[in-house]
Amino acid sequence: MKIAVVGAGLTGLKTAKELAEHAKVVVFEPDDVGGLVATFREFSIEKFYHHCFRDDAFLLEEIKRCGLKSKLVWKIAKTGFAANGKIYPLNTPFEILRYPLLTFGEKIRLARFTLKSRKLNYEDFDDVGVSEGIREELGEGLLERFFMPLLRSKFGENAEKVSYAWLLGRVAIRSNRKYSGEEIGYIRHGFQQLVDKMAEGLEIRRERARIRKNARWDVNGEDFDAVVYTAPLSELGELAEKLGIPEVRYQSSVCALIGAEETLTENIYWTNIADKMSFGAVIEHTNFMPFEDYGIHLMYLAAYSTPDGWLFNLSDKEIEKLFLSDLRKLGFKTESVRFVRVFKAKYSGPIYEKGYRRKITPYRVAEGFYVAGMTSRPNYPERSMNGSIRAGKEVAEQVKEDLL
Ligand SMILES: Cc1cc2nc3c(=O)[nH]c(=O)nc-3n(C[C@H](O)[C@H](O)[C@H](O)COP(=O)(O)OP(=O)(O)OC[C@H]3O[C@@H](n4cnc5c(N)ncnc54)[C@H](O)[C@@H]3O)c2cc1C
Repeated sequence: MKIAVVGAGLTGLKTAKELAEHAKVVVFEPDDVGGLVATFREFSIEKFYHHCFRDDAFLLEEIKRCGLKSKLVWKIAKTGFAANGKIYPLNTPFEILRYPLLTFGEKIRLARFTLKSRKLNYEDFDDVGVSEGIREELGEGLLERFFMPLLRSKFGENAEKVSYAWLLGRVAIRSNRKYSGEEIGYIRHGFQQLVDKMAEGLEIRRERARIRKNARWDVNGEDFDAVVYTAPLSELGELAEKLGIPEVRYQSSVCALIGAEETLTENIYWTNIADKMSFGAVIEHTNFMPFEDYGIHLMYLAAYSTPDGWLFNLSDKEIEKLFLSDLRKLGFKTESVRFVRVFKAKYSGPIYEKGYRRKITPYRVAEGFYVAGMTSRPNYPERSMNGSIRAGKEVAEQVKEDLL
């Protein structure tokens, strides 16, 4: 039995590892092994910010299996909100009470909403638009002054299209808050260590896979009994239509990694930007992990766009100029910047639009053709490393049940 796994992100690596004990497995990957979690090698840091959560059971199990559990660091990550050019920490109840841009009543409603969202079945709200849902539940003020800036920072130009289910799911899943903030995890010195361990012993061909149906499945001119496709569906072209896979729209990520002599804030890891700026969040990695590990302060400026969006199609130099000019508006002295590296991902996640649930791809889409990854069930209503590892495990189980 010969199986092709397309893509060496976390889904592809997990699938390949699970199947390699039972069949000959060849992985196809034209770009960095690790996909979206791949590393900027010079500083052993992800090109795109990454952290994990306590309830990421599949990811934590994989970290343990790879012998990296002792490198996992858990900490409270401080968050903040930048509004009217000023950064407000928003962690403790006291800081939240002091935040001047929401009324006391709005803060109470927000707290109640967090509790309520945990009890709701978010899937029931898949056909409701996010602004519609928030307006009805929380009113115009919270929508405009609190949620829309967050949604814009997460979905860019597509913020209005997102389903209310996404927001409810997100609030319910990610509200693992302690008194002074949310606890998150990181593998000290980077997730690349996990990627390397997962890739060990696999046959990975550094080629873009071109797939055709013949008597079996042809990948780059070689016959396979089955294909597990873990790359973005948009890359499948006509084959997706032939196989009846619904069209999923993707968002793109644009991230600038900045090395500087100074920090923007003293101890905030994640600052959401409520003001209209070219990026939606500042993530100060060295306010979370030790500065000594890198010898320079590292921060990401993060934005989302679409494959044909104006931001995604700017040159790296143009993005750098735009981002640094907005960073100055937050009071950052850009003279202290030592380097800027811009990273882009064309397909960085599905847009969880209204009705998205009906587009979740089943693992088996045709005889011998399987799909897993960001559009699989474990990655709804939010894609994550945990969801991708789980999808890789589950698709491998399906392949074993069908063919091995
Ligand atoms: C900015 C950003 C921040 C994130 N932060 C977090 C976080 O903090 N925590 C978290 O849990 N998750 C985070 N994620 C999500 C997480 O990175 C992804 O959910 C996960 O890595 C996806 O893995 P995957 O294997 O499903 O897909 P991908 O990583 O996209 O892998 C797909 C692979 O397929 C390859 N490919 C494409 N076309 C072809 C082809 N024709 N032939 C062969 N290969 C092909 C690609 O090069 C890629 O390597 C973040 C993502 C982004 C973009």
